[in-house]
Formats: sequence, C-alpha cells, structure tokens
Amino acid sequence: MRQPPDAPAADFPTDLSTSCWLTVVLATPGLRPLHYLLPLPTDDTSSHPTPGSWVLAPLGRRTLLGVITALHSQDPGEVASERLRSVDRVLSTLPPLTSTTLDFYRFVARYYRRPLGAVLATAVPPYLRTPRHYLATKKTSLVDRLRDKPLNYGSHKENSTYAEGGRSEATHPSAWPQLTTAQAQAVQAIRSHLSNPKRTPVLLHGVTGSGKTRVYIEAMHALWQTQPLAQVLLLVPEIGLTPALEMRMRLAFPTVAQTSLHSSMGDAARAQSWLWASTGKAQLVMGTRLSVLTPMPALAMIIVDEEHDASYKQQEGLRYSARDLAVYRAQQEHALVILGSATPSLETLHATDRGRYLRLSLPEQATGAPRAAVALIDTLKDPATDGLSTESRQAIAAALSAGSHVLVFLNRRGWAPVLGCDACAWTAVCRHCATAMVLHKQKRQWRLVCHHCGSLDAVPAACPDCGAPDLTPVGRGTQKIEDTLKAAFPQTGVVRIDRDTVRSADDMDAVLSSISNGPPQILVGTQMMAKGHDLPGLDLVVVADADPQLVHPDFRAPEWLLSVLVQVAGRAGRHHHAAGAGATPAKVLIQTRYPQHPLFQAILTHRSKDYAKTLLEDRRAARLPPFSHMAMVRLSDTQQDRLSAWAMRLHQHLTQWIRIQSDAQAQAQAHPKAQAAAKAQAPGGEFSPAPQPAGSDKDHGWHYAHAYPPAPDYPERQGPRLRWHMVLEAPTRQQRALLAEAAENFALSNPGVEAQIEIDPLSQS
Ligand code: ADP
Ligand code: ZN
Ligand code: ZN
Repeated sequence: MRQPPDAPAADFPTDLSTSCWLTVVLATPGLRPLHYLLPLPTDDTSSHPTPGSWVLAPLGRRTLLGVITALHSQDPGEVASERLRSVDRVLSTLPPLTSTTLDFYRFVARYYRRPLGAVLATAVPPYLRTPRHYLATKKTSLVDRLRDKPLNYGSHKENSTYAEGGRSEATHPSAWPQLTTAQAQAVQAIRSHLSNPKRTPVLLHGVTGSGKTRVYIEAMHALWQTQPLAQVLLLVPEIGLTPALEMRMRLAFPTVAQTSLHSSMGDAARAQSWLWASTGKAQLVMGTRLSVLTPMPALAMIIVDEEHDASYKQQEGLRYSARDLAVYRAQQEHALVILGSATPSLETLHATDRGRYLRLSLPEQATGAPRAAVALIDTLKDPATDGLSTESRQAIAAALSAGSHVLVFLNRRGWAPVLGCDACAWTAVCRHCATAMVLHKQKRQWRLVCHHCGSLDAVPAACPDCGAPDLTPVGRGTQKIEDTLKAAFPQTGVVRIDRDTVRSADDMDAVLSSISNGPPQILVGTQMMAKGHDLPGLDLVVVADADPQLVHPDFRAPEWLLSVLVQVAGRAGRHHHAAGAGATPAKVLIQTRYPQHPLFQAILTHRSKDYAKTLLEDRRAARLPPFSHMAMVRLSDTQQDRLSAWAMRLHQHLTQWIRIQSDAQAQAQAHPKAQAAAKAQAPGGEFSPAPQPAGSDKDHGWHYAHAYPPAPDYPERQGPRLRWHMVLEAPTRQQRALLAEAAENFALSNPGVEAQIEIDPLSQS
C-alpha cells in the first residue's frame, strides 16, 4: 500500500525521563490533530506510549479519548510551548492500535474525506469514549471489568425455538448433511486459496438456499486448522443478524471464543465485544456494518454475507461502505475476504468479470427443493382492486387451505413518487435523458423534476398517451394491502413485518417462531422479509407492487429491484419437498402493469444473472458506476433562495474547473513530459492497490467528468432545513478526489451554506 501522505515518521524517544511531545487525534469529528505533552512517567510501566496508544486528553474544559499518532523528542512547534497541556493518562486498558489498523483508519479518513477523529469516533463505541468509565472504583475501572469478563464459547443452552425448528444445521455438526458437490468444490477452492499468499477476494455466488453459510463455516474451519489463533470477522446486513445465526456458529465452533457487535446492543455489551475483538480474545466477531472498523489484531478472514445489501452503506455521519472497506482492509491485512450473495452488486460482478475477484458458484438449492414457479399477473387485465388482483386472491385462498403460510411483499422504502397513468402504462419521463421524473411541490405548484439532469416540466393535465384524466403517483395505495387482506381473509392472522413492528433481531426471531409453529398465516412484509430469514412452510409469495421501483429515477433502482425480487422469491418453498398428494408447488406471483418488462421476464425465467449482465452493459454505455466514480455534494440551509443560488454558483464553478482540467490535459497530451508531471501529482484514494491499466488514457479524459446541476432532495424539507444535492462524476477515483476537493475548496471560501461530500453515494437523492 502507498504510504499515506499524512503519516508522520514515528520518532520514538529513548529517554522517557525527558518530557516528550505527542501528536494526538481525539475521537471526535472536526478537529485537527493536536499536540500534547506526556506527563512525567509514573511507576506504571504498562503506560509507556507508542503510536497507536490511547490517551485521555483535555480539550478546553472537557476530557476526551484520543489516540497518539506520533511521538516527538523535540517540540513540534505550531503551538507555543507554555500553552501545551499534558494528556491526563495513557490508557493501559485499551490495547494500542497496530500500525496497520491506524493506517486503515487513515485510509478511511482520506477516502471518505473526513478527519481521522471522525473515523475514530465511529470506530470506538460511545461507552469507551466516556472518560469516567476509566476511573478506578474498587481498584478497577468499569472498562477493566468489562474487558476481563470471561468470553462466550459455543454452547447448547440456546432456547430459540425458531432456530431449533426446521433448520437442519441447528443440530450438532456431526448430524449435518454432507456437503453438496458445489459446496465441496467451493470449500476446496477456498482451502487452496488460503495457502496462497496472494489472497484474491472471493465472490461466493450462490442462489438463495444454496447453503452459503455452510461454506463460510467450512472456510473458517480450514483457517483455524492452520492458524488456531486467527480472527474472523463475519459481516451481516443490519437486520440479518439473528440469534439463529449466532447459535449456528456456536454449534459449529464450540471451542472458539465468539462475540457479536451491532448497534441495537446495549452500550456496555457493545463495549465488551469491542474489547474482546481488539484484544484478540474473540476469534469470531459477527457484526453489522460498524464492526468493519473494529480493531482485530489477528484478523485473517472477513466474510461479507449478502454483500449486495444496501445496509452496508452508512447513510449519515461518516458515510462509508462496509463492503468496500472489508475488501480494502482484507487486502491490507493479507486476509482472505469472501463476498457472498445470490445477487452480487454490479460493482462486485464487474470486479469479478475483470478477474480481480475469484468467482465460486453454488447454482442449486442445497436442500434439493425445486425453485418456486414464478408467474406474472398483468394488472391492466386483472386490476389490483385495493391492491390485490383476483388471481392473487384465489392463490392466497388456495395456499392457506393447503396449510401454507403466505407472504405478501410490498415496498415502502422511501422512493420518490413518479407520475403515472392508471389507465395505460405511461409514466413521466425526462425529455433530455429519459430518466423518470419526480413530483415536487415548488412554490405551491406541482412540478416534475429530473433528478439526473435537473430539467423541469409542468404536470400534464391528462395522460399524453391515452388522454385519461387520472394521473397519479405510481405506487399509491399499496399500504392498504394489510387492510385488504384482513377484510378478504377474516379467519386468518395477518402479521405485518416492517421497521415499525419489528425492531430487532430478537423481535424478528420471536415473530417468525410464533408463525412457524402456528396455523397458516399471511405475512405482509417490506424488504426486511426478503433478507435471509428462513420460514418453513411458506409456499406462496405475492409481490403486490414493484412497479414504482421499475420506473424509479435512481439508476440503481433496477439492480435493487432485481435483487429484492430474487431474494423474496427465494423465501418460497425453501423446505418444500415434492411430497405426497395434495402438496401445492411453491409459487411466486408478481402483480405488475409492465409484464413484458425484461426485468420481470428475467425473474420469470430464472435468468437474473443474465439480466444483471444487461444492467452492467447499460451502466457501461451510460458511463455510470462502476464505470465511473461518483460523489454527492449534500447541501442544506434554512433559506431556499440562498441555498439554490449557492448551489448554482457551485455548479458553475465546478463546470468551469472541469473545463480547465480538460484543457490542461489536452495540452499535456501534446507534451508528454508535462503529462508525466501532472500524473505524479494525483493523490491517493484508490481502493485497490492495483495501478490503472496502461494505455487507457482516453478513459481518463476530464471531459468525462461532470458536475450535474443541483436538484432538491426528496423530500426537500427536513425540520427547519432545506436540502439539495449535486452529483459529481469522474472517470477515475483520483479524478473524483480532485473534483471533490475543488468542491470543498469552494465551500471553504464561500461560507454560509452547509456542504458535505459523500463518496460513492448509493442513492441519487
Ligand atoms: P443461503 O445462505 O445460501 O441462502 P443457507 O446457508 O441458509 O443458504 O442454507 C439453506 C438451507 O439449506 C438451510 O436450511 C441449510 O440448513 C440447508 N443446507 C445447507 N447445506 C446443506 C447440505 N449440504 N445438504 C442439505 N441441506 C443443506
Ligand atoms: Zn394513459
Ligand atoms: Zn433528465
């Protein structure tokens, strides 16, 4: 890895009796590194600091946790010596960060364009950032006590009935079924990969139910056979972390110390897990996105389950992608990274196509159950009255009377409304760039806004295609489905599963276990239900309305829809055995007014892989990620006029700035020496240490960079503040970094409006 430019030469003084200067980064956003003095040494020999040591240091009247990034035997200057303060304490309780971890944090800071202190503040749980938890009471401090608690090992005392019922792997490993041929091949490939010093990231591309978890288990097993003290990080999506998974791991590894880390844990419990991970005591750490930042001194393997999942992206504060960071961190640590998914992200597919990741496939369901049959219901012919077509109602009735549960999938993700015609299939589309337009209320008038190119349009009075007067936001009324179902099936329980009803992994476990042990029920679920939860006896899935995603303006919407439909279809018939007479085959019904759409056709024919390729080709043609690199400038202010005027000026400035780069590049190409000099100046920021392929200079042309016109967020207002955004696009990561820097410089010299850069944004608004 390239040496980060801000890495100070660690200048460790040999004589600690002379006072010593420290550079300290406090674990709080928005501060520069500060200088402190080291207090005179005490007899406590364990507190001799090194770069990476944690300290408590004063700032104004507060005390904050920080980390030493450099030691100096001479006054580093900048601050008048008499005003320098001493750190309060060097903490011996927290293990010092290794230089690799510190470098990793520096990379995160540089790549996401945030101060190192903001990275530390995200990486360290709040409990451990609270100075009083380090005060000794009754000889030891609270933190010491947490750290020294005995760890959890595998055990059998779990009491989750849901985990026990119906899952073949929730039994003792000796009773597990044999690996399928595909699983065995994948495990073999991983084994031989583990002994290879060049550890290419692995994509485990397995259909839903193909038994990826079992492959992870075997991979860990192989690792611990040769490196018994190695640490493994298993990342799972936000709500995917179920007690069932934890139990499976305990059963699989009864002698391995393991712990979990996620944000719905109590503060002290989370601190404890963090301490166990960062002292190297916990060998298996299971966690959600935030755990990718946890120090793990013996890290040798990172597994990212459901790597395509959007919850790996942090959407506030330090807006990082845990998936991307996992890949980077693994390469930096020479650890093996395994990305698992039934529908890999287009970024991951592209990397695999280019040979940067190794692809291992699991093409069949492990249980041998056949795939559910998919059917499309054309709602222009069989209208979805109150959200459900006649065919869907009949299918639900039939499934219930055959004793099966039913999942009605509806999507309430915060997609912006798109205008459509109820009578035909028309939707409002931008004249300039063919992106679906978004309804906005501006100055009390409804307007159509293109979020991609910023163009505006009036709302037509009637449908331009068929003349019908009823234009409505697409997707209206889907929330009524729960009521519709209750009215249509009064004898059957209807359970709603979404963020309002299910808040934690334990809630989900409780709901699913009560359902799986009870009579047939109807579940109404959002994409929460699409994720890895296994519900035996679910033989019918009805997709109530996925059309809003199909016509959604975000360029990632089709990718997301494809993946969510594959996942949701994978919920049906996972344990279906083509058993005795009367058994209905598992079914997936999709209600849509666009049954001919190639995306639905791909689901129908189980060709999601091919369709993902098509989507990737579309991205290539449009030069969208992963064929370009995006940043988003997020703007907010209390006054709309000031905000929009500022945004326009920023846009003008960046457009001109790009033109200047482009001209300079054209000149440099005419004079190769200048070109070499220009290249040497490009800053870091590459996730991959691999250099750009030679001879592709024309792809790096600045004329491919863009600052798109600013557009309001949807919804625009949040409390007293209005929010706008501007999309920046560049052909390489380095150029994107330069463009982002130009935006930051503009914001510095034009204060007033709040501006923040987001790197690799997932959503376009
Ligand atoms: P995925 O994560 O790929 O969707 P899971 O790991 O959850 O799949 O496995 C799906 C189901 O298949 C689980 O019920 C699991 O117990 C079962 N399973 C896994 N491996 C095998 C195997 N080799 N033989 C039979 N069943 C298996
Ligand atoms: Zn129409
Ligand atoms: Zn447009």
